[in-house]
Amino acid sequence: MRLFSRIIQIKKRFPLTISRGTHTGSSNLFVVIDDGEHKGIGEMSPSKDPSDPNSEDCKNILNEFWKDINPKLGIKEIWQLAKDKNIAPYAIAALDIALWDLKGKKQNESIRTMLNMPLPSAPTSITLGIMSPEEVAIRIPLLFENQKFKSLKVKLGSPDGIEFDKAMFSQALESSKEFDVICRVDANGGWNLEQAKRMTEWLAERNVDYIEQPLAKGDEGNLKNLYKNRALPIYVDESCNYAEDIEEWHEYVDGVNIKLMKCGGITGAVEILESCKTHNLKSMIGCMGESSVSISAAAQISGVIQHIDLDSHLNLSPDPATGAELIDGILMPNDLPGHGAKLK
Ligand SMILES: [Mg+2]
Repeated sequence: MRLFSRIIQIKKRFPLTISRGTHTGSSNLFVVIDDGEHKGIGEMSPSKDPSDPNSEDCKNILNEFWKDINPKLGIKEIWQLAKDKNIAPYAIAALDIALWDLKGKKQNESIRTMLNMPLPSAPTSITLGIMSPEEVAIRIPLLFENQKFKSLKVKLGSPDGIEFDKAMFSQALESSKEFDVICRVDANGGWNLEQAKRMTEWLAERNVDYIEQPLAKGDEGNLKNLYKNRALPIYVDESCNYAEDIEEWHEYVDGVNIKLMKCGGITGAVEILESCKTHNLKSMIGCMGESSVSISAAAQISGVIQHIDLDSHLNLSPDPATGAELIDGILMPNDLPGHGAKLK
């Protein structure tokens, strides 16, 4: 089996601002594993931290890693070897997604059917980044212009403080009223404990359905204090990469946001889902700046997940791939073998 890869620059239609900064696009690495008959395709979107390996680094790391791999090994064994070598989770994800896609193509089955999972029934959120209330009033009609969404994820945790967050959120509620959506909030760790308590109560009064990563990564010790008497369900995202991260604080959260780029692809996601089941936690699935390739892979397992946030491909100009499609607000996997996505 041969491994090929190439980097494609992907550009966002609307730049996305979160608590830690603004992103306009990324250099994503696309990996192809060819067994001579079928080609499995995977994708990674790199970390935004300049001290982490970028796509060029990951291309070299994966080429080196693949040289020593016995092609007879199973996906899980290859995944574990890559994880043991401390390869960046997003690089492992690109490889793992390609291997699952290849396996599906060889067996003429989708990843979903190989894992015996149902089709998704929960709609995907569309994400609204941090911006001024004036910009919110302009942006929301544009987001809903051509597509129907049933939930809106609002990014808060602005460095300008919780009064800014409140003003922005109030405008988001007002502007989205006519589209009849459920709002949820992602603070991306932008609040301290006191702010998180106040905002959770304030948002609960405004019918938000849950709050994601209220406290910063590293501040998990305070989850215990926030969880007690919480006004809304609390999900963690940045605090959880791999399944083992859940062990420390599973008693103090309601659920976990799985991202293929954080947990090394489908294999890591399945491990997290098992851990959530063990600890009686709910799950959500989100994304980084990914195209339809890894979004379609994520959609394959989304039928067992309570909240879906697979929208990064909808904000690309252009999306270099096609795959899962938005049908009545639900990101629906297609019937093709593997993950069902193709590079254009
Ligand atoms: Mg998040």
